[in-house]
Amino acid sequence: MKLVKEYNQEFKIDKFEKGKDLLIIAGPCSIESEEQMFEVAERLVNLGVKFIRAAMVKPRTSPYSFQGIGLEGIEIIKKLKAKYPLNVVSELMDINSIDIYEEYIDIIQVGARNMQNFELLKALGKSKKPILLKRGFGNTIEEWLNACEYLLAYGNNQVILCERGIRTFETATRNTLDISSVPIVKGLTKLPIIVDPSHASGRRDLITSLSLASIAAGSDGLMIEVHPHPEESVSDKDQAISLDEFARLLKKVKNVKEAIEK
Ligand code: PEP
Ligand code: MN
Repeated sequence: MKLVKEYNQEFKIDKFEKGKDLLIIAGPCSIESEEQMFEVAERLVNLGVKFIRAAMVKPRTSPYSFQGIGLEGIEIIKKLKAKYPLNVVSELMDINSIDIYEEYIDIIQVGARNMQNFELLKALGKSKKPILLKRGFGNTIEEWLNACEYLLAYGNNQVILCERGIRTFETATRNTLDISSVPIVKGLTKLPIIVDPSHASGRRDLITSLSLASIAAGSDGLMIEVHPHPEESVSDKDQAISLDEFARLLKKVKNVKEAIEK
């Protein structure tokens, strides 16, 4: 992982500069409707959040679970971007959809299950868009950084790493948040790393504590699943938090950030 280690620039993408801002990405697990997205967007803008999750396709464990609304979701994303000053983060699963993502998506997400999809990584390495590279739940930090190296080696150094928990013997949580990966990654690269406490825990009652712990550990940001009516989420409803809860979380996050900067 030569390039990952040698990366020596100030990391800056539209609406985020590492070290100056926290990269806060919030939004539902998946796009369900225009109404749902607009309600979330309205609140995020009021809270000063600049990045929204907007997943059209979902990598679900079971083929019978909701697979996402599909690429027609792009129409909702277009309207959302026309109305709100938000950058859109969306997961890409199919290499054939790259063109449409490059046109409308601001940060292209590579999900945990595709972290070692090397053809996808090579193709995104040639892209000019920032990439959010999630850690595979069965992958070591070294494997994750090697996946990142693919992106850099193929020409894209706008990569944000995202810790999202790994599989362990523990069953109280969906995954185990590997908090130590934050300072470890920070010691190995100057690329930003953020934490997704939602998929790490699978439990809405843990999202605030894990977010605060992540920021205290030096995370450059967070990705959090929020929903106007969490219990009605079509996917991942047990981990979604409400917009009010997210607003409270954000305040505490800012307090922790200030405290560790003193
Ligand atoms: C997601 O962020 O929508 C997601 C599916 O997460 P992960 O790839 O980490 O499971
Ligand atoms: Mn989800």
